[in-house]
Amino acid sequence: MRPAAETLILETASRKIPLSLERGKGRRIRIAVLDDGRVRASVPRGVAPARVLAFAREKAAWIERAVRKSETRIRLHAPAKSAETGLISILGQTYPVKIEPGRARRAAFADGVLVVPVADIHDREAVRRRIESWLKRRAGQVLAAALDRGLEADPFGGLAAPPWSLRWMKRRWGSCGRDGRIVFNTRLVQTAPSLVEYVVLHELCHLKHHDHGASFYSLLARCLPDWKERRKALNAIAAE
Ligand SMILES: [Zn+2]
Repeated sequence: MRPAAETLILETASRKIPLSLERGKGRRIRIAVLDDGRVRASVPRGVAPARVLAFAREKAAWIERAVRKSETRIRLHAPAKSAETGLISILGQTYPVKIEPGRARRAAFADGVLVVPVADIHDREAVRRRIESWLKRRAGQVLAAALDRGLEADPFGGLAAPPWSLRWMKRRWGSCGRDGRIVFNTRLVQTAPSLVEYVVLHELCHLKHHDHGASFYSLLARCLPDWKERRKALNAIAAE
């Protein structure tokens, strides 16, 4: 499937929702929210985009509700699929991705849309690389800030900042070596901030306790009383 030729952006009070247009079907405008959160508008030939947007605006509350519901299924919109879906998950929210021909070397997030310039908009590999490199930069900022906050928290106050790095990993969200080096999954930046916080505190607890024994968990519980719920949410993503 090629990127939708026509994508409109429906702006609601709280977010921007991309609508991909499918032309030529039926006699009325119809809007459907797919399981993965994509919104498709089937539009008769000749209907102007402004008319479609006006129709979508009337149904904005319903569309937004359905999109949110799809997000609770915690399906991350992976960079590799963005060319197809036109969506990306960033910090637990879904944003439109706009792939456009261009020479700029970097994707940029502007006004709630991730704009990805590539020489050939059908080159999925190039799209994936651009999006991944944008996510990695963002992940660097997000994790650095989360680590700072974690280190300030009781009971870590005074602990030296550990060396850390990012890596795209399939099975782990983070790890802490015996030497105190922490590796975070770059993909964490696609999950909710509360889950990033959980992984950071989990790994920081490993600086004090290198196993998953009782002392480790009691320390974790002191940092994050609701750590079990967060772990559950994270596992729901890993199971995808
Ligand atoms: Zn652990």
